[in-house]
Amino acid sequence: MKSLICVLFLCQALIANAQSHYQGPIIDMHVHVAVLPGESGNLGAPNTILDILPLLQPNHMSNAGIITIAHAGNMTETRSRNDSLLRLHELLPQLIPICSVHPMDTTAAWEEMARLKSKGVDILKLHPSAQHFDVAAPQVAALAEKAGDLHMALLFDSYSPEDANELGKLMMLAINHPNTQFILAHMGFVHFKELLAIQAWKRYAWYKNNIWMDVSAIAPIMGGNSPFTAQIRWVIRQIGVSQFLYGSDFPLFTFKESIAAVRRMGFTPAEEQKIFHDNALRLMYLTKTSQK
Ligand SMILES: [Zn+2]
Repeated sequence: MKSLICVLFLCQALIANAQSHYQGPIIDMHVHVAVLPGESGNLGAPNTILDILPLLQPNHMSNAGIITIAHAGNMTETRSRNDSLLRLHELLPQLIPICSVHPMDTTAAWEEMARLKSKGVDILKLHPSAQHFDVAAPQVAALAEKAGDLHMALLFDSYSPEDANELGKLMMLAINHPNTQFILAHMGFVHFKELLAIQAWKRYAWYKNNIWMDVSAIAPIMGGNSPFTAQIRWVIRQIGVSQFLYGSDFPLFTFKESIAAVRRMGFTPAEEQKIFHDNALRLMYLTKTSQK
């Protein structure tokens, strides 16, 4: 009898735990996929599409934003990378191609952006520290303007250990290009509190709410059981949960651990639904339909 009561309590606890979290489909907007020979494993674990695909369904992932990162001065390779993502998207439409160009390739990069948009690409990945450029460079501003003209969102890595002002530069880039949607990956990571400026900017008519953030890396490293969890959750709620996207940064973090980390951050199921799914849909709809 005693053991039956224990089992009943355990079942109740499991049901309560399941009900306290969003259980629907998950859209991961930050998945690094290897597309060139020798690239798989460079981020710590195998990450060809064949490594990724079997993991989608067990983790309730309906869509994955697959990312590549372009190198400067090699447009042949850049186009090849981007074409690889386009082919994967053609074969498996649940994969969202997040292609890349390098801002210092200027006109060639802009031509590539137009080509990609004509093939249905709506998001580009830029990584200032990995691609070795300064966010304040005029070529980056030119690219951001072009992205707005094409209705493309820019997914920027938003943390550099070498440039303490990088997050501020990204936020100013977004203000100066209000028709372009910006996604700040890792929500500034250790600089996350600086994002609170957005809460103040929202009071001004000139602020177009064009800054989105993903919780990749910051959730598994600083969410969950860290002393920063409550601060990060508070910052997200102050800015507005509707601006935050889920991303795993696979293969740096497994899908399982990054999803679990977000669930440990103390959001309501309704907030989790926005972060894990609805906000990404809204952003993608915006890039398909927004008019300058
Ligand atoms: Zn990443």
